[in-house]
Amino acid sequence: MNNSLLNKGTAFTEAERDALGLRGLLPPQVMTIEQQLVRALGNFRRKADALEKYVFLTTLQNRNETLFYRLVQEHAEEMIPIIYTPTVGQACLEYGAIFRRPRGLFISIKDKGRIAEVLRHWPIIDVRMIVVTDGERILGLGDLGALGMGIPVGKLALYTACAGLHPYYTLPITLDVGTDNVALHDDPLYIGLHQKRVRGAEYDEFIEEFVQAVKSAYPKALIQWEDFGNTTAFHILRKYEKQVCSFNDDIQGTASVAVAGILSALRLTGGKLTEQKILFQGAGEAGTGIADLFTAAAQKAGLTEAQARACCWFVDSQGLVVKNRPGKLAEHKVPYAHDAAPIATLAEAVEKLRPTILVGVSGQGKAFTQAIVTKMAEINKHPVIFALSNPTSKAECTAEEAYQWTDGRAIFASGSPFAPVTYKGKTFVPGQGNNVYIFPGVGLGALACESKQITNGMFLTAAETLSKLVTQEDLDMGRIYPSLTKILEVSAKIAAAVLEECHREGLARLPRPADVEADIRARMFKPEYRNYV
Ligand code: NAD
Repeated sequence: MNNSLLNKGTAFTEAERDALGLRGLLPPQVMTIEQQLVRALGNFRRKADALEKYVFLTTLQNRNETLFYRLVQEHAEEMIPIIYTPTVGQACLEYGAIFRRPRGLFISIKDKGRIAEVLRHWPIIDVRMIVVTDGERILGLGDLGALGMGIPVGKLALYTACAGLHPYYTLPITLDVGTDNVALHDDPLYIGLHQKRVRGAEYDEFIEEFVQAVKSAYPKALIQWEDFGNTTAFHILRKYEKQVCSFNDDIQGTASVAVAGILSALRLTGGKLTEQKILFQGAGEAGTGIADLFTAAAQKAGLTEAQARACCWFVDSQGLVVKNRPGKLAEHKVPYAHDAAPIATLAEAVEKLRPTILVGVSGQGKAFTQAIVTKMAEINKHPVIFALSNPTSKAECTAEEAYQWTDGRAIFASGSPFAPVTYKGKTFVPGQGNNVYIFPGVGLGALACESKQITNGMFLTAAETLSKLVTQEDLDMGRIYPSLTKILEVSAKIAAAVLEECHREGLARLPRPADVEADIRARMFKPEYRNYV
């Protein structure tokens, strides 16, 4: 009863109560999981706000994972925004205050030299999926240090809920190297180290020790790097992507979901991939990750690498990213620093560059002003506008604004969910460019064949597969992603496509199954109670 993976609560049968010595520990009425679901859903909906709903779901997860996952799967559209964005952002901000029972491993810089020992304290010996953060850039909220633990916990819950990865295999980890969010140093309830972030060689050695300890403790594990600051994120990804099966969801998962959105949007505009001009606001992990994968997609469609990169332009905090900008440009921006005159603002850049697609990934809420969005509609019959910054308060514009300011012609997607909008009698369903469409399927596919690495080719395959799953009916509503109610199906198809790609790239350690999709589906965890007697 105290093991959340085994607990059935009031659903323990009469025979189980006798055999396991549970009689008296439970009320006499034996219930079905369906009855428990009615009760859990009622309790969930009675909670006054999203944070309380989050706390309720976390408590349920800690008590009875079968019931938790069944509830989340049956009400995916209602629950995913609670266990992940946008509510998880607020949950992280208040992680210290709502902290009840630790989930996952906290490894601090004080553990340097003994990380292998700390990993051994985790009770599961066959971990396959690790999501790890150092808390430096949590969503669009900045440095939250150890409070960032909500992110690996939430992402792993999505792996199970959305792709059926068995929860037994999952391990959330927070690497606490301190925080530069000084307000936390003064907060007596802050759960992490009250010190400035350790950087440089000491940080690099800590990460190196972590990777080696994981490789030896869990040789089959995939490491998902999550919400690292962008100076460390690119460096860690490049250093380890060929050494250990790993990827960075903020860079590669985001890229895949955004490219899938672009492919679907082009089905609506009728435009060609090779003829797009994309203007990004924000040249960080998300923006340059999307541009890199777009480049791969455009090359596959016939452009040279140089031509493909020339389709992507960036505005960052210092204006248009151009070649002759004084000072040293960060490495990830260099391929997109074109030979052009400097431009100070996004509005001016839209005016001069005349993009077909505008992507917001700078964490600057309200950056897409009415003037900017109207200009996009002047340039394009169907302007593609992605306001991807999270959480909702950081979105560059709302769905309603995008449709209103373009007279209903925009193809809009956002990072956090927006409700459908009715404009001039037509109802639009805005797409949510949620990474959850991609990473669970990619992870499941890679784990199913024990891939040695995760590559951009796999993320491009995932994007193409996702876009193909968008129906004409979805497109008619302006929706460029499938409904989240189909997420298990989406993940199964992506996992199968990724497994095939692993074989094409020669990275699979297991032989190719005869029926790939059946193999994937057979591996998926189903939230049903086992019979113990
Ligand atoms: P990041 O820190 O790596 O990059 C942010 C970039 O924005 C930097 O290049 C910075 O220079 C730029 N920037 C900051 N202020 C600016 C300003 N005033 N004008 C123009 N540019 C400015 O962060 P990231 O990982 O790239 O994430 C950025 C945002 O994208 C976050 O809000 C995050 O929540 C969101 N995001 C959304 C999704 C999704 O929707 N699926 C996925 C990942 C990230």
